[in-house]
Amino acid sequence: MDCPCGRGATYEACCERFHQGSEPEQPRDLMAARYAAFVMGDAAFLHRTLHTQHEDYAQGVEGIRRALRGQGRKVRYQGLTILDTRAPDATGAAQVLFHASVRSGGRDLAFVERSYFLHDGTGWRYLAGETCPARELPRWRDLDIDGFEARR
Ligand SMILES: [Zn+2]
Repeated sequence: MDCPCGRGATYEACCERFHQGSEPEQPRDLMAARYAAFVMGDAAFLHRTLHTQHEDYAQGVEGIRRALRGQGRKVRYQGLTILDTRAPDATGAAQVLFHASVRSGGRDLAFVERSYFLHDGTGWRYLAGETCPARELPRWRDLDIDGFEARR
């Protein structure tokens, strides 16, 4: 099967090994594996790859499972495009800018997000994200992190 992250490789050649426990070397690969985990409803992976400082970490795997169930089958993840990355800054946080195609009940919920990842000594963990509805960024395909920062 095609990997649900939508990068064009098979699941076996792409995100499967990350879901099974190997740690991505690059934050962008963790970002894609997390997207695929949303598609597949893998709450355990989504929780394991949250940084302990992320606001959702404390709710545990069960909290994430509940949130995924709350979205039900209405939410459809239709593709991921990674637009830009930035190496870790002085605080150790790496950045990934991406566009995610998401629909829910006929509504277009596509968004662009700048994600921050911190390495916790074991692997990259999702620390925080700053999102913007894609409809407000008609030229999102040309965006890089500087452009996202300067969008207002
Ligand atoms: Zn993948």
